[in-house]
Amino acid sequence: MSGDSEVRLGLVLPDVLGTYSDSGNATVLSKRLEWRGVPATIVPVKLGEPVPSSLDLYLLGGGEDEAQALAATHLRAHRGLQEAAARGAVVVGVCAGFQVLGTSFVTSGGVEHEGLGLLDATTRPGERRAVGEVVARVDSLLGDEPLTGFENHQGTTTLGPGSAPLGEVVRGVGNGDGSGSEGARTGHILATYLHGPVLARNPALADLLLEWVLGEPPKPLALAEVSALRRERLSGVRFGHRR
Ligand code: GLN
Repeated sequence: MSGDSEVRLGLVLPDVLGTYSDSGNATVLSKRLEWRGVPATIVPVKLGEPVPSSLDLYLLGGGEDEAQALAATHLRAHRGLQEAAARGAVVVGVCAGFQVLGTSFVTSGGVEHEGLGLLDATTRPGERRAVGEVVARVDSLLGDEPLTGFENHQGTTTLGPGSAPLGEVVRGVGNGDGSGSEGARTGHILATYLHGPVLARNPALADLLLEWVLGEPPKPLALAEVSALRRERLSGVRFGHRR
């Protein structure tokens, strides 16, 4: 963690990577810290502003193809995020944010864009848009707490040897490259296709990220509303249409 005991959470380009309410992930992390007595600040970084390299954790959300191309151009030019990642800061990308963290992505118009190369992942448009609820197992990191979220993306993502899949799809599409994988991870750089916001639906994932920031597991935090939301989301999928 940087300097004093306050955790600084970077909300990266919410003006272009904010289409799917993924900014809520910053609120979830900040609240989960605050409820444990750990001060936290959300630092929004807008398009045109340099990305500070001194923050503890960075969040990139989903967005439309053109918006994500703008985001990638901006982030490649201002190297703050890459510098932070190089010193071990936690970086989380959701959907477009996932694709931007990879080495390259092709948008629906067929144009190839360079990503940030923080994940070994390349994205191309798939044959069909993946839309719907997703359940994925992340046994190595989260044990028997599956990930729940929803996806809405055209891109299919293939991982290279430098990144491991985050999880294995039980329902839905995920990376969509035929491997059955969902998301990606290299060290403390983590990405997923799941919206929700994903950290509101998956407190175990939120706390894993906080553990990486704090250097130790955060104190237990039982929230009945969050457990009820998980139960409702997971049972909805179980009884829903199998994709
Ligand atoms: N534009 C990207 C795609 O369609 C990402 C969409 C998203 O962030 N939900 O693949």
